[in-house]
Amino acid sequence: MPTESSIISSIRRRVRYGNRVAVGIGDDAAVVRCGKDVDLLLCSDLMIESIHFKTQWSRPGWIGHKALASAISDVAAMGGVPRFALVSIALPALTSPEFVDELLEGALEAAKKFGVDLVGGDTSGSPGPIFIDVSVAGECEKQAAVTRSGARPGDLIFVTGDLGSAALGLTLLEQGHRLGGDAVRHGDSGEAKAEHDAMRKHLLPEPRCELGQEIALNKVATSMIDISDGLSTDLNHLLEESGCGAAILFERVPVAQPVMTLSELRQDIDGFALSLHGGEEYELLFTADAEAREVVRGLSERFKLPITEIGEIVAEPGLTVEHSGRQVRLRAGGFEHLAGPEG
Ligand code: ADP
Ligand code: MG
Repeated sequence: MPTESSIISSIRRRVRYGNRVAVGIGDDAAVVRCGKDVDLLLCSDLMIESIHFKTQWSRPGWIGHKALASAISDVAAMGGVPRFALVSIALPALTSPEFVDELLEGALEAAKKFGVDLVGGDTSGSPGPIFIDVSVAGECEKQAAVTRSGARPGDLIFVTGDLGSAALGLTLLEQGHRLGGDAVRHGDSGEAKAEHDAMRKHLLPEPRCELGQEIALNKVATSMIDISDGLSTDLNHLLEESGCGAAILFERVPVAQPVMTLSELRQDIDGFALSLHGGEEYELLFTADAEAREVVRGLSERFKLPITEIGEIVAEPGLTVEHSGRQVRLRAGGFEHLAGPEG
């Protein structure tokens, strides 16, 4: 099978847009001119059993929640307000009525929580795994959508929240740990809390909708993307669309507390790789002019959420990360050493 990126590039080369399409394939959501004051944002996200979720460690309701949350995150990444969702499901013959009920309950709860109306979809049998596809329509002020393509040399790079715990959560689930229904009990160890928080972030992600909207409203960001594939992959996407490069400092990357806790305790947990390459964080990564620092600090205080400056956009293409005095070229999902104290 051709790679995902080659398929997307091939479709992108062939499509021709009508004059109402402001942003087509290649961003988190398409932007379509809709009215005098409003632009429409459109995106979809497909989740397949075994690839994107496993029923052995996720409850049906959590799967429904995550399907909505990950699609909505792409509207958040444009700075838009999610409004409507279409949910299509394909289920194998042996699926129980309880499973379907819980899945829908989770999807409906998430729709309510994130302010979208579930207005349609499609239903089918599946000869194999469960499929869930969520399409979301959102809106933003005319020409106010924040795309991936506006970063310019000299811009600062910011990331919301912290990174690595969703990928850590997946690792823990693969190792046999499970998320209980309740919060961590009083008296549980820091290790138990770290495990709980990491698995929760993987299984029940929260898109940064309101913060994304404020970033757009304040016109602070020159570009933005959500971290669904990992910082290295998504920053590279943003750089490709913007036609520039970036230099980040690893010591500034906000490594999530569960990652710090468990990487100190366990040899097999690599905090560096988890925070740079871990996917499904649904944090926002954006670039802004240096003058926007104060506004970003204000947003961070208002939302009681860290928004961390991790580096700078440069003219030369490529992404480098400085770690312990060494410069490393950071490729999507991997890295190679360039130069440093030992050459
Ligand atoms: P994200 O990680 O933000 O969800 P993707 O990597 O899934 O983004 O997709 C990148 C871009 O490619 C998006 O603009 C998406 O709409 C587009 N895209 C992906 N698959 C297809 C497809 N089969 N047909 C048309 N566009 C697609
Ligand atoms: Mg995205």
